[in-house]
Amino acid sequence: MSLKVYNTLARKKEEFIPREKERVSMYVCGPTVYNYIHIGNARCYVAFDVIYRYLQYRGYGVTYVRNLTDVDDKIINRAKEEGLDTKEVAEKYIKAFHEDMENLGNKPPQIEPRATEHIDEMLEVIKCLIEKGFAYEIDGDVFFEVQRFNGYGELSGRTLEKMRAGERVDVDKRKRHPMDFALWKSSKPGEPNWDGPWGKGRPGWHIECSAMSSKYLGMGFDIHGGGHDLIFPHHENEIAQAEACAGKAPFVRYWLHNGFVNIRDEKMAKSLGNVILVREILKKYGSNVLRMFFVSTHYRSPINYTEENLDSAAAALERIENAIQNIDYLLNKSEEIAGTAMSGIEGFEEMIKGVEEKFAQAMDDDFNTASALGAIFDFIKEINLFLEESQKNLSEKSRYLLKEARDKLIKLMGVLGIKLGRKEVAKKLPGELLDLAKSIVGQAFEKEGTALGALVDAREKARREKDWTKADLVRKELGKLGFILKDTPRGCQVIYEEK
Ligand SMILES: [Zn+2]
Repeated sequence: MSLKVYNTLARKKEEFIPREKERVSMYVCGPTVYNYIHIGNARCYVAFDVIYRYLQYRGYGVTYVRNLTDVDDKIINRAKEEGLDTKEVAEKYIKAFHEDMENLGNKPPQIEPRATEHIDEMLEVIKCLIEKGFAYEIDGDVFFEVQRFNGYGELSGRTLEKMRAGERVDVDKRKRHPMDFALWKSSKPGEPNWDGPWGKGRPGWHIECSAMSSKYLGMGFDIHGGGHDLIFPHHENEIAQAEACAGKAPFVRYWLHNGFVNIRDEKMAKSLGNVILVREILKKYGSNVLRMFFVSTHYRSPINYTEENLDSAAAALERIENAIQNIDYLLNKSEEIAGTAMSGIEGFEEMIKGVEEKFAQAMDDDFNTASALGAIFDFIKEINLFLEESQKNLSEKSRYLLKEARDKLIKLMGVLGIKLGRKEVAKKLPGELLDLAKSIVGQAFEKEGTALGALVDAREKARREKDWTKADLVRKELGKLGFILKDTPRGCQVIYEEK
């Protein structure tokens, strides 16, 4: 089986062959730290987190670099608005960004370079571009001359003629071509600045990603990722800078871009007032649900944010959680049900073996998480059927298989960054359960698992008899020991958080 990825530059899926056999180098454009990140940013970072996890799952070592843009017009403007200096603004939103990443359940990249700590590297690239005739300086500003670079427009599929046709009247007349872009900007008074050969100034945005990715990953690294909106001009310009300076290609082997997030069928825009911040949405739904929402759609397709779609994601997630809880509950409750092997057990065993392969096949097809989830839900159906049978007949073998099924679910959902599964209930239950069961059920138990089952049964009995005081007492006392009882159409489920 080989992994195929859609390469924006080739405009097709290609077999993924990394530069080094067992190590993948990946760079993803990080945030400009002037604000809290919104759901569109979150989609990008989750998409590449899943790609990161899947590459690791597939056995690759991955060097993952994601930068922080901590010098930019937007930061300067925000500093004026908030009455802070630009460093304080950057620090504030870097901290917020890290919180959001953690709350989203994203693994941190290995290297997180900051633009302001790599000014020297950027100056080197700019000097190189001037020397080789790809850049020119005017009044302390340095521009990249797009007409000098042959491949300009290849990534986005735009030609320079078309770009010129779309020229706006407000183009800087000093530029040789309207699409020429700034590598170095002379600074206005009060703005952050560094000494350069062309006077005090600061780097342009595009140069920072070329300089930092090349520094940490070298030319010709494997994956460069980002949102679809970065293809032009940002990534187009990154290629031009890096390849023009290095005098060789490619800068990057595979360009991967994730699709947009629409908000209730509209484009998300400040002017429409529909920008949704990650921290707001996480308060309402939590990271598992948000990730479920994202991975239910292929990362390159647009996705539509609506409350209904988030609710469906929550319901889908609950189906998986329920299966796990039902397994836990049965394994825990039914220690005494000794059964013989039931019919159909081989089929279930095969299903457990096969689900991982189906999952991987889907992910190998350009990280098709939607189809990978399809394999998971087929598996859930089988688990539920098997659980129903096992209520009456639970052999040692079926206990073993149920545990396997549970572990498999947790493992595969973990590749999507969705954390499931509490501590295994069958092990290490608190000894206090024995006393509690004795006091409530009025009978001595030897095993904690049996005591827990008896307590849950006692509560169900009390509810049937409308003895709400007793039912509530059981729930409360179990709660003190770390058990949460959840009533579902399939009966009561026990969730245990070991203290
Ligand atoms: Zn970038």
